[in-house]
Amino acid sequence: MLALTVKNLTKIYPNKLTALKGIHFSIAQGDFFGLLGPNGAGKSTTIGILSSLVKKTSGTVRVFEYDIDTDFEAAKACIGIVPQEINFNPFEKIMDILVNQAGYYGISRKIAIPRAELYLKEMGLWESREKRVSQLSGGMKRRLMIARALVNEPKLLILDEPTAGVDVELRHSLWKFLTDLNKQSTTIILTTHYLEEAEKLCKNVAIIDQGKIIKNASTNSLINDMAIHTVILKLATPIHSLMKLGNYFCRLLDNLTIEVELLKNQSLNGLFDELSKQHIQINSIHNKTNRLEELFIRLISENKASSL
Ligand code: ADP
Repeated sequence: MLALTVKNLTKIYPNKLTALKGIHFSIAQGDFFGLLGPNGAGKSTTIGILSSLVKKTSGTVRVFEYDIDTDFEAAKACIGIVPQEINFNPFEKIMDILVNQAGYYGISRKIAIPRAELYLKEMGLWESREKRVSQLSGGMKRRLMIARALVNEPKLLILDEPTAGVDVELRHSLWKFLTDLNKQSTTIILTTHYLEEAEKLCKNVAIIDQGKIIKNASTNSLINDMAIHTVILKLATPIHSLMKLGNYFCRLLDNLTIEVELLKNQSLNGLFDELSKQHIQINSIHNKTNRLEELFIRLISENKASSL
């Protein structure tokens, strides 16, 4: 079953700016889907339409079996949204935020209170339940946004840049939380421009640029499509010059570091054979940049060139 079907979705803002130029995509139930793109690409507009904060100009959106135009309430009940901007009333108490949110979905207080407890505990906010939003740190507010989005137990959770501006520790704990939630069958859509995040979490990704989807594929196949990726080798002992390493494109960055560009048909094993022929010992190896990042930059620049 599809969790989301978007067909020919267009958005023209009142100032005549066309933010979405007829996009199509679908997301299977259980997917962890990344909507990636540079600033201004149309990610928030898309999310805004899904969450009914932005009115579409044309096109159709189905959430599970419900069309958002004709079955709005049923579609809404399936969705939890974590917007990019923190949008709480600063004076409202944490516990009340969750219980009131449940109320918007017609969930009784009797059910809402234990649910609020569950999700506040999951997000490490239970001790703060009597505090007001203004007393929370930035990271706590982010976690509260997620707890609030979960209180209606959505089948489809949509997060708009959930880790923008959060520290590394919180980012990793959110990644783990979202991965676990997805394993328990919640379909997740995430927008991000942290490509590492997409590479770590998403099974499938769509890349959006200038209101058009320019790529839509599994994360693995996108990465495998890359012609080249660059690895950095740290050496165990210094060398002063580097002889040719078979057919590998390589250069010595300093006497303990070699950079190698691997072509699609070249393997790391072959590289290690060449290194051992020259008695070069390796301490560590890592990718120069995140591979999705390299692909992303290439696609965006190709899209720019083709639209000139
Ligand atoms: P992203 O989330 O990918 O950064 P957005 O969906 O926010 O992109 O924006 C897409 C385009 O629509 C941008 O050019 C942006 O300036 C424009 N835009 C977004 N919101 C509005 C609005 N309320 N009125 C007019 N233009 C808007």
